[in-house]
Amino acid sequence: MSNVHELTFLKEKIQELKDQGVFRKLPVLYSPNEAEIILDGKKVINLSSNNYLGFSNHPRLKKASIEAIEKYGAGAGAVRTIVGNMGIHEELEELLAKFKREEAAFIYQSGFNCNAGTIQAITEAGDIIISDELNHASIIDGARLSKADKAIYKHSDMNSLEEVLKKNREQYKNILIITDGVFSMDGDIAKLPEIVELAEKYQAMTYVDDAHGSGVLGESGRGIVDHFDLHGRVDFSMGTLSKAIGAIGGYVAGSQTMYDWLNHRARPVLFSTSLPPGTIGAIIEAIKMLMESTKYTNRLWDNSRYFKEKLGKLGFNTGKSETPITPVIIGEEAKAMEFSRRLLNHNVFVSAIVFPTVPKGTGRVRCMVTADHTKEQLDIAVEAFKKVGNEMGIL
Ligand SMILES: *Cc1c(COP(=O)(O)O)cnc(C)c1O
Repeated sequence: MSNVHELTFLKEKIQELKDQGVFRKLPVLYSPNEAEIILDGKKVINLSSNNYLGFSNHPRLKKASIEAIEKYGAGAGAVRTIVGNMGIHEELEELLAKFKREEAAFIYQSGFNCNAGTIQAITEAGDIIISDELNHASIIDGARLSKADKAIYKHSDMNSLEEVLKKNREQYKNILIITDGVFSMDGDIAKLPEIVELAEKYQAMTYVDDAHGSGVLGESGRGIVDHFDLHGRVDFSMGTLSKAIGAIGGYVAGSQTMYDWLNHRARPVLFSTSLPPGTIGAIIEAIKMLMESTKYTNRLWDNSRYFKEKLGKLGFNTGKSETPITPVIIGEEAKAMEFSRRLLNHNVFVSAIVFPTVPKGTGRVRCMVTADHTKEQLDIAVEAFKKVGNEMGIL
């Protein structure tokens, strides 16, 4: 028998990855994550970040972050429920509630643990969680941590959702319907008004994960609930502070009742140290910037329309995107990866996304347009797409 410390079972699995050609090294960034980056030592146009508004390296966020560090220090020093709840955490929650036009907002250290912690805390045995089949991994994990039963409906298929509701309404106490707000692989928007209608018809609660809608949809980035004017009709409106907002963290906005319960039962808040002051300072500044002006979101949408239109005119298939997420669907997995490699030769970085993340045969490169890109950078990227499309016989 081999020595237990050799982790032979993992070595075997790693070898399998290598045999399948999917073992990889991570690209390394040597600059802030902006429209143009230094990637593995090379200057390239970046069409892969979630830094939608260009906030992650914004001078105002950096200044606010430094000021918060000067006042409160580098770390919060404890979990919130002991002595890690600083004035700055409370200030952020009040500001977020106002921004989201909800009674209250409860913050977490990341969007991921917001989903994992909230879903578990608000459901129990005797309840059922009904989830869109394409929901994010953190929702799936949150549902797994819950003692509630689970059911899946077909992606954005309201007949399928109603069937599941009808079949289960009688057996369960509470029903929680969960959906992503914007689906990150295709950029399509959840049919939230119809979901809310069905939820009201069957007396179910609703939970939306607005990771890619926060800072993107709605008035000045208030999110999907604002976009569809559904205030007061979605029980749990979750968002991230790590994508458009440019820092890290997550929150769920909703009622004061929701807040009071999470404050006692959300495990990531009870058992993990609260967000560091510097991060909170940056987030507060970002939310203030959005409340002051729509110029950031306007530029984001202007840029994404511009880019999408140009790619469409060339003959690329950008799928069913309704947001700045712009997939360019290539088809075969190997071809999508080759497309991405060739774009990089032209100094444009767009990551390839293939099976099992998306269905077989729908391999794609996924472009994330931001407010930070100049029209000139977008033109250069489009030119690279054209060259590679011709080289590979796609156009
Ligand atoms: C990115 C993402 C998350 C996780 O958010 P983080 O703040 O990065 O942890 C959760 N849900 C969805 C849909 C996401 O895209």
